[in-house]
Amino acid sequence: MALICGHDAPAHGLPLCEHIRNAATEPLDHYLHYTGRGLERQRICVICREEPAPAATMAAAAVCEDCFDATGGSLIGVFGHPETLDEARPVRGMVETNALPEEAGKVVDVAPTGDGIVLLCDDGRILRWDIDSGRCTEVARTTIAVPAEAEAWCDRNQALRLHASRDGAFAAVVIDYGRTGEVIDLTTGAVTVPLENDGHHSDTVPFSLAFTEHAGRVVVLHRRQWNLVEATDAATGVPVARMPQEEGGSSTWSGHFHGALHLSPAGTRCASDAWVWHPAGRPVAWSLDRWLSEGERAWSEDTIGWAGLPSCGYYWDRSLVWLDEDRLVLEGLGDDEQELVPGARVFDLGSRGPDGSKPADEPAETATFAGPKGRFFAADGLLFSSSESGFEIWNPATGVRLGALAGFRPTHHDLARGELIELSAIGLRRWRTAGAES
Ligand SMILES: [Zn+2]
Ligand SMILES: [Zn+2]
Repeated sequence: MALICGHDAPAHGLPLCEHIRNAATEPLDHYLHYTGRGLERQRICVICREEPAPAATMAAAAVCEDCFDATGGSLIGVFGHPETLDEARPVRGMVETNALPEEAGKVVDVAPTGDGIVLLCDDGRILRWDIDSGRCTEVARTTIAVPAEAEAWCDRNQALRLHASRDGAFAAVVIDYGRTGEVIDLTTGAVTVPLENDGHHSDTVPFSLAFTEHAGRVVVLHRRQWNLVEATDAATGVPVARMPQEEGGSSTWSGHFHGALHLSPAGTRCASDAWVWHPAGRPVAWSLDRWLSEGERAWSEDTIGWAGLPSCGYYWDRSLVWLDEDRLVLEGLGDDEQELVPGARVFDLGSRGPDGSKPADEPAETATFAGPKGRFFAADGLLFSSSESGFEIWNPATGVRLGALAGFRPTHHDLARGELIELSAIGLRRWRTAGAES
């Protein structure tokens, strides 16, 4: 069966409107058109875009590879929306609000832990706050501050960010899109690990940092050099493991500008919201256990479970969240910043075997659906999104929207209490994740 272009060949690329297909002289620029039927996309021209009735776009049809490549033209924008599957029902549970402790003054960031919520105040004080008893105590002070001369790269303003270990024993204050930070022992208030990265395009990414636990100690993962993540004992500052420096040859892991680090719930894997030259966002993930046990020697493509996710032109610093130890959700549909629409892509890294025996292939994309945008969170097998339009709950296997809360915009996940929390002007707003689906 011949295609509409008259060639008996496999269809290639997106279906094209008849004007683009038949452009005789100059190639026509195009819109990426979501038809509203599932995730169906096609390329249409300006004439079709302005047609009130979609008669011409209905005639979009697939062509062969040669004919597709001959059309050229560039992307003008996105038109239409992919279909969202909506079965929203009333959301269980209430959003509760706790006023922040008065003595805190202005709170810059919070970090929920198993030992209360750690607060970073704008005067550098670090407080530990027990929501239930209301008790609030100063545990440390930081001197980390955004440099007065700091300049934003593409609206990414340098800002203080607080992280804390799960047990609440350590905090880290870092400058996102900046160069410095420190790890603080909250029992003594002492700085245990001064942090500084090499500044190589560090203004493009949040400061790479994550706490984990390994062999009974708290370990902090961070980026000192732009393409190397290292692990350091949070209590002593002693190096635990490091990505190996590439010597000659081209390894799969070199060349990534590491960004925000995201740990799987049990801490067996780490994902970095990295980018590669020229520039394209390209999140990567790897396994932690052998690396943290055996150090740099254990690092090889076969043992480390290295996985690269699809790249996206000019887009990183996006939402990434682990559903479990294997499945990683990536925010945004599209392969380039210009064509992105709200949505989620789910990748199964476990499909490659526990030790990542097939490092070359991209992990399987097990679900792709439209709708979720903003910050992503996950708990109990559900995906949560938080944006200007509010809070939404999604089934990450089917892509169905299960519920929404308009006025709630969670900013943090309190794993210890099983709550999503929003640091807002009126205080800390909390919503319990358990039972959200029932
Ligand atoms: Zn057209
Ligand atoms: Zn053809």
